[in-house]
Amino acid sequence: MSHFDEERVLSVHHWTETLFSFKTTRNPSFRFQNGQFTMIGIECSGRPLLRAYSLVSANYDEDLEFLSIKFPDGPLTSRLQHLKEGDPIIVSGKATGTLVLDNLLPGRHLYLLGTGTGLAPFMSIIRDPDTYDRFEHVVLVHGCRQTSELAYGERITAVLPTDEFIGESIREKLIYYPTVTREPFRNRGRVTDLIASNKLFEDIGLPRMDASDRFMICGNPELLRDMRVILEAEGYAEGNHCEPGSYVVEKAFVEK
Ligand SMILES: Cc1cc2nc3c(=O)[nH]c(=O)nc-3n(C[C@H](O)[C@H](O)[C@H](O)COP(=O)(O)OP(=O)(O)OC[C@H]3O[C@@H](n4cnc5c(N)ncnc54)[C@H](O)[C@@H]3O)c2cc1C
Repeated sequence: MSHFDEERVLSVHHWTETLFSFKTTRNPSFRFQNGQFTMIGIECSGRPLLRAYSLVSANYDEDLEFLSIKFPDGPLTSRLQHLKEGDPIIVSGKATGTLVLDNLLPGRHLYLLGTGTGLAPFMSIIRDPDTYDRFEHVVLVHGCRQTSELAYGERITAVLPTDEFIGESIREKLIYYPTVTREPFRNRGRVTDLIASNKLFEDIGLPRMDASDRFMICGNPELLRDMRVILEAEGYAEGNHCEPGSYVVEKAFVEK
Protein backbone atom coordinates (compact mmCIF):
# COMPACT_ATOMS: atom_id res chain seq x y z
CA MET A 1 0.00 0.00 0.00
CA SER A 2 1.54 3.31 -1.05
CA HIS A 3 1.62 6.29 1.26
CA PHE A 4 0.87 9.93 0.45
CA ASP A 5 2.85 13.02 1.30
CA GLU A 6 1.52 16.50 1.76
CA GLU A 7 3.71 18.85 -0.27
CA ARG A 8 3.54 22.64 -0.72
CA VAL A 9 3.17 24.55 -3.96
CA LEU A 10 6.32 26.57 -4.65
CA SER A 11 5.27 28.32 -7.87
CA VAL A 12 2.59 28.29 -10.55
CA HIS A 13 2.87 29.25 -14.23
CA HIS A 14 -0.15 29.69 -16.48
CA TRP A 15 0.74 28.99 -20.13
CA THR A 16 -2.75 29.49 -21.58
CA GLU A 17 -6.40 29.52 -20.51
CA THR A 18 -6.31 25.72 -20.54
CA LEU A 19 -2.76 24.83 -19.53
CA PHE A 20 -0.60 25.51 -16.48
CA SER A 21 2.34 24.06 -14.62
CA PHE A 22 3.43 24.14 -11.01
CA LYS A 23 6.30 23.17 -8.77
CA THR A 24 6.01 21.63 -5.33
CA THR A 25 8.29 20.59 -2.53
CA ARG A 26 9.53 16.99 -2.67
CA ASN A 27 9.84 14.45 0.10
CA PRO A 28 13.50 13.38 -0.29
CA SER A 29 12.41 9.77 0.16
CA PHE A 30 10.21 9.92 -2.96
CA ARG A 31 12.03 7.99 -5.69
CA PHE A 32 11.01 7.71 -9.33
CA GLN A 33 12.39 6.89 -12.76
CA ASN A 34 12.38 9.60 -15.40
CA GLY A 35 9.25 9.23 -17.55
CA GLN A 36 7.03 7.86 -14.79
CA PHE A 37 3.78 9.23 -13.38
CA THR A 38 2.32 9.37 -9.89
CA MET A 39 -1.01 10.22 -8.26
CA ILE A 40 -1.49 13.78 -7.07
CA GLY A 41 -4.42 15.82 -5.87
CA ILE A 42 -6.08 17.85 -3.19
CA GLU A 43 -8.36 17.30 -0.24
CA CYS A 44 -11.98 17.75 -1.31
CA SER A 45 -14.91 17.48 1.16
CA GLY A 46 -12.59 15.69 3.57
CA ARG A 47 -11.42 13.10 1.03
CA PRO A 48 -8.43 13.00 -1.31
CA LEU A 49 -9.30 13.77 -4.94
CA LEU A 50 -6.46 12.24 -6.94
CA ARG A 51 -5.46 11.89 -10.59
CA ALA A 52 -2.49 10.44 -12.48
CA TYR A 53 0.19 13.03 -13.37
CA SER A 54 3.49 12.60 -15.19
CA LEU A 55 6.54 14.07 -13.52
CA VAL A 56 8.06 16.92 -15.50
CA SER A 57 10.95 17.16 -13.06
CA ALA A 58 13.97 14.90 -13.39
CA ASN A 59 14.53 12.30 -10.69
CA TYR A 60 17.57 14.23 -9.40
CA ASP A 61 15.68 17.53 -8.89
CA GLU A 62 15.01 18.82 -5.38
CA ASP A 63 11.45 19.88 -6.28
CA LEU A 64 8.63 18.25 -8.21
CA GLU A 65 7.05 19.80 -11.29
CA PHE A 66 3.79 18.99 -13.08
CA LEU A 67 2.14 20.21 -16.30
CA SER A 68 -1.64 20.30 -16.14
CA ILE A 69 -4.67 20.74 -18.30
CA LYS A 70 -7.51 22.95 -16.99
CA PHE A 71 -10.67 21.07 -17.79
CA PRO A 72 -13.67 23.31 -16.91
CA ASP A 73 -15.85 20.44 -15.70
CA GLY A 74 -13.02 18.27 -14.40
CA PRO A 75 -13.40 17.38 -10.73
CA LEU A 76 -9.71 17.96 -10.01
CA THR A 77 -8.48 20.51 -12.52
CA SER A 78 -11.45 22.87 -12.11
CA ARG A 79 -10.01 23.31 -8.59
CA LEU A 80 -6.31 22.69 -9.21
CA GLN A 81 -6.07 25.61 -11.66
CA HIS A 82 -6.56 27.99 -8.72
CA LEU A 83 -3.49 26.71 -6.88
CA LYS A 84 -1.32 29.38 -5.28
CA GLU A 85 2.13 29.39 -3.79
CA GLY A 86 2.02 27.80 -0.33
CA ASP A 87 -1.09 25.67 -0.97
CA PRO A 88 -0.96 22.01 0.10
CA ILE A 89 -0.95 19.25 -2.49
CA ILE A 90 -1.11 15.50 -1.99
CA VAL A 91 1.53 13.42 -3.79
CA SER A 92 1.65 9.63 -3.75
CA GLY A 93 4.90 8.10 -2.58
CA LYS A 94 4.82 5.64 -5.47
CA ALA A 95 5.55 6.29 -9.16
CA THR A 96 4.94 3.94 -12.06
CA GLY A 97 4.58 3.88 -15.87
CA THR A 98 5.85 2.32 -19.07
CA LEU A 99 7.77 5.31 -20.49
CA VAL A 100 11.11 4.30 -19.01
CA LEU A 101 14.36 3.67 -20.86
CA ASP A 102 14.67 0.12 -19.54
CA ASN A 103 11.48 -0.86 -21.39
CA LEU A 104 13.23 -0.18 -24.71
CA LEU A 105 15.77 -2.34 -26.51
CA PRO A 106 19.08 -0.66 -27.36
CA GLY A 107 18.73 1.49 -30.47
CA ARG A 108 20.17 4.30 -32.59
CA HIS A 109 17.71 7.20 -32.48
CA LEU A 110 15.09 7.75 -29.80
CA TYR A 111 11.86 9.45 -30.86
CA LEU A 112 9.77 11.01 -28.08
CA LEU A 113 6.34 11.79 -29.51
CA GLY A 114 3.95 13.80 -27.34
CA THR A 115 0.78 15.81 -27.83
CA GLY A 116 -0.56 18.34 -25.32
CA THR A 117 0.34 17.42 -21.74
CA GLY A 118 1.89 14.25 -23.19
CA LEU A 119 5.07 16.32 -23.31
CA ALA A 120 5.39 16.07 -19.51
CA PRO A 121 7.14 12.68 -19.14
CA PHE A 122 9.58 13.60 -21.91
CA MET A 123 10.71 16.72 -20.06
CA SER A 124 12.29 14.44 -17.47
CA ILE A 125 13.60 11.92 -20.00
CA ILE A 126 15.48 14.63 -21.95
CA ARG A 127 17.26 15.60 -18.73
CA ASP A 128 18.41 12.06 -17.99
CA PRO A 129 22.10 11.52 -18.85
CA ASP A 130 21.31 7.85 -19.46
CA THR A 131 19.12 8.86 -22.42
CA TYR A 132 22.15 10.31 -24.20
CA ASP A 133 24.41 7.40 -23.26
CA ARG A 134 21.99 5.01 -24.95
CA PHE A 135 21.08 6.90 -28.15
CA GLU A 136 22.91 8.80 -30.90
CA HIS A 137 20.10 11.32 -31.28
CA VAL A 138 17.00 12.09 -29.25
CA VAL A 139 14.14 13.65 -31.21
CA LEU A 140 11.45 15.37 -29.14
CA VAL A 141 8.27 16.01 -31.15
CA HIS A 142 5.56 18.05 -29.42
CA GLY A 143 2.25 18.47 -31.20
CA CYS A 144 -0.39 21.01 -30.15
CA ARG A 145 -3.20 22.97 -31.72
CA GLN A 146 -1.69 26.42 -31.09
CA THR A 147 1.83 27.75 -30.58
CA SER A 148 0.87 29.13 -27.15
CA GLU A 149 0.35 25.52 -26.04
CA LEU A 150 3.95 24.57 -26.85
CA ALA A 151 4.90 24.64 -23.18
CA TYR A 152 8.57 24.61 -22.17
CA GLY A 153 9.73 25.53 -25.70
CA GLU A 154 12.07 28.19 -24.39
CA ARG A 155 13.38 25.97 -21.60
CA ILE A 156 14.23 23.30 -24.17
CA THR A 157 15.88 25.61 -26.70
CA ALA A 158 17.48 28.28 -24.50
CA VAL A 159 17.87 27.05 -20.92
CA LEU A 160 18.67 23.34 -21.08
CA PRO A 161 21.51 23.70 -23.64
CA THR A 162 23.38 25.85 -21.11
CA ASP A 163 22.70 23.50 -18.19
CA GLU A 164 25.88 22.68 -16.30
CA PHE A 165 25.00 19.03 -15.88
CA ILE A 166 23.21 17.98 -19.08
CA GLY A 167 23.81 20.94 -21.47
CA GLU A 168 26.54 19.34 -23.58
CA SER A 169 24.47 16.21 -24.31
CA ILE A 170 21.47 18.36 -25.15
CA ARG A 171 23.46 20.54 -27.54
CA GLU A 172 24.96 17.52 -29.29
CA LYS A 173 22.07 15.07 -29.37
CA LEU A 174 18.66 16.61 -28.73
CA ILE A 175 16.51 17.66 -31.71
CA TYR A 176 13.34 19.55 -30.70
CA TYR A 177 10.50 19.59 -33.22
CA PRO A 178 7.37 21.48 -32.12
CA THR A 179 4.41 21.34 -34.50
CA VAL A 180 0.93 22.87 -34.48
CA THR A 181 -2.25 22.05 -36.36
CA ARG A 182 -4.42 25.14 -36.12
CA GLU A 183 -2.32 28.19 -36.96
CA PRO A 184 0.66 29.21 -39.07
CA PHE A 185 4.02 28.04 -37.68
CA ARG A 186 7.34 26.81 -39.04
CA ASN A 187 6.24 23.18 -38.49
CA ARG A 188 2.63 22.32 -39.15
CA GLY A 189 0.58 19.15 -39.07
CA ARG A 190 -0.30 16.13 -36.97
CA VAL A 191 2.60 14.10 -35.63
CA THR A 192 1.43 10.92 -37.37
CA ASP A 193 1.03 12.69 -40.74
CA LEU A 194 4.52 14.18 -40.44
CA ILE A 195 5.90 10.68 -39.88
CA ALA A 196 3.82 8.90 -42.52
CA SER A 197 4.77 11.52 -45.13
CA ASN A 198 8.47 11.46 -44.09
CA LYS A 199 8.33 15.26 -43.63
CA LEU A 200 9.59 14.95 -40.06
CA PHE A 201 12.72 13.06 -41.14
CA GLU A 202 13.39 15.48 -44.02
CA ASP A 203 13.01 18.48 -41.71
CA ILE A 204 15.33 17.17 -38.99
CA GLY A 205 17.91 15.74 -41.39
CA LEU A 206 17.81 12.16 -40.14
CA PRO A 207 17.20 9.10 -42.32
CA ARG A 208 13.66 7.73 -42.38
CA MET A 209 12.90 5.60 -39.31
CA ASP A 210 14.17 2.06 -39.48
CA ALA A 211 14.34 -1.04 -37.28
CA SER A 212 17.17 0.44 -35.19
CA ASP A 213 15.03 3.38 -34.01
CA ARG A 214 13.03 3.46 -30.77
CA PHE A 215 9.82 5.31 -29.92
CA MET A 216 8.11 6.60 -26.80
CA ILE A 217 4.58 7.88 -27.32
CA CYS A 218 2.36 9.85 -24.94
CA GLY A 219 -0.69 11.78 -26.04
CA ASN A 220 -4.30 11.78 -27.10
CA PRO A 221 -6.07 8.52 -28.07
CA GLU A 222 -5.76 9.25 -31.83
CA LEU A 223 -1.98 9.65 -31.61
CA LEU A 224 -1.64 6.38 -29.72
CA ARG A 225 -3.94 4.51 -32.08
CA ASP A 226 -2.43 5.87 -35.30
CA MET A 227 1.19 5.46 -34.16
CA ARG A 228 0.51 1.86 -33.16
CA VAL A 229 -0.78 1.18 -36.69
CA ILE A 230 2.31 2.79 -38.27
CA LEU A 231 4.78 1.02 -35.98
CA GLU A 232 3.15 -2.41 -36.03
CA ALA A 233 2.95 -2.27 -39.86
CA GLU A 234 6.72 -1.78 -39.90
CA GLY A 235 7.37 -4.67 -37.52
CA TYR A 236 8.10 -2.74 -34.31
CA ALA A 237 7.18 -4.58 -31.10
CA GLU A 238 5.73 -2.87 -28.03
CA GLY A 239 7.83 -3.05 -24.88
CA ASN A 240 6.85 -3.28 -21.24
CA HIS A 241 8.32 -4.07 -17.83
CA CYS A 242 8.47 -7.80 -18.59
CA GLU A 243 9.99 -7.54 -22.03
CA PRO A 244 11.70 -4.51 -23.59
CA GLY A 245 10.60 -3.65 -27.12
CA SER A 246 11.13 -1.09 -29.83
CA TYR A 247 8.36 1.23 -28.67
CA VAL A 248 6.41 2.10 -25.52
CA VAL A 249 3.13 3.95 -25.09
CA GLU A 250 1.35 5.81 -22.29
CA LYS A 251 -2.02 7.54 -22.33
CA ALA A 252 -1.76 11.28 -21.61
CA PHE A 253 -5.32 11.04 -20.23
CA VAL A 254 -8.31 8.73 -20.20
CA GLU A 255 -11.43 9.77 -22.14
CA LYS A 256 -14.63 9.39 -20.17
C1 LIG B 1 -0.92 7.78 -17.02
C2 LIG B 1 -1.58 9.15 -17.00
C3 LIG B 1 -0.80 10.29 -16.87
C4 LIG B 1 -1.40 11.56 -16.86
N1 LIG B 1 -0.61 12.66 -16.78
C5 LIG B 1 -1.17 13.89 -16.84
C6 LIG B 1 -0.38 15.07 -16.81
O1 LIG B 1 0.85 15.02 -16.71
N2 LIG B 1 -1.03 16.27 -16.90
C7 LIG B 1 -2.40 16.36 -17.03
O2 LIG B 1 -2.92 17.48 -17.10
N3 LIG B 1 -3.15 15.27 -17.03
C8 LIG B 1 -2.60 14.04 -16.93
N4 LIG B 1 -3.39 12.93 -16.92
C9 LIG B 1 -4.85 13.12 -16.87
C10 LIG B 1 -5.24 13.36 -15.40
O3 LIG B 1 -5.11 12.15 -14.69
C11 LIG B 1 -6.66 13.93 -15.24
O4 LIG B 1 -7.55 13.28 -16.08
C12 LIG B 1 -6.69 15.41 -15.50
O5 LIG B 1 -5.91 16.07 -14.54
C13 LIG B 1 -8.12 15.99 -15.43
O6 LIG B 1 -8.63 15.70 -14.15
P1 LIG B 1 -10.09 16.18 -13.79
O7 LIG B 1 -10.50 15.52 -12.52
O8 LIG B 1 -10.15 17.66 -13.83
O9 LIG B 1 -10.99 15.64 -14.97
P2 LIG B 1 -11.20 14.09 -15.44
O10 LIG B 1 -12.57 13.70 -15.01
O11 LIG B 1 -10.07 13.26 -14.97
O12 LIG B 1 -11.14 14.26 -16.97
C14 LIG B 1 -12.19 14.91 -17.68
C15 LIG B 1 -11.91 14.89 -19.16
O13 LIG B 1 -10.88 15.81 -19.44
C16 LIG B 1 -10.13 15.39 -20.55
N5 LIG B 1 -8.71 15.41 -20.11
C17 LIG B 1 -8.23 14.98 -18.92
N6 LIG B 1 -6.90 15.16 -18.86
C18 LIG B 1 -6.55 15.73 -20.04
C19 LIG B 1 -5.31 16.15 -20.57
N7 LIG B 1 -4.17 16.04 -19.87
N8 LIG B 1 -5.29 16.69 -21.80
C20 LIG B 1 -6.45 16.82 -22.52
N9 LIG B 1 -7.64 16.43 -22.07
C21 LIG B 1 -7.70 15.88 -20.84
C22 LIG B 1 -10.62 14.00 -20.92
O14 LIG B 1 -11.49 14.10 -22.03
C23 LIG B 1 -11.38 13.56 -19.71
O15 LIG B 1 -12.44 12.71 -20.05
C24 LIG B 1 -2.81 11.67 -16.94
C25 LIG B 1 -3.60 10.51 -17.04
C26 LIG B 1 -3.00 9.27 -17.09
C27 LIG B 1 -3.87 8.05 -17.21
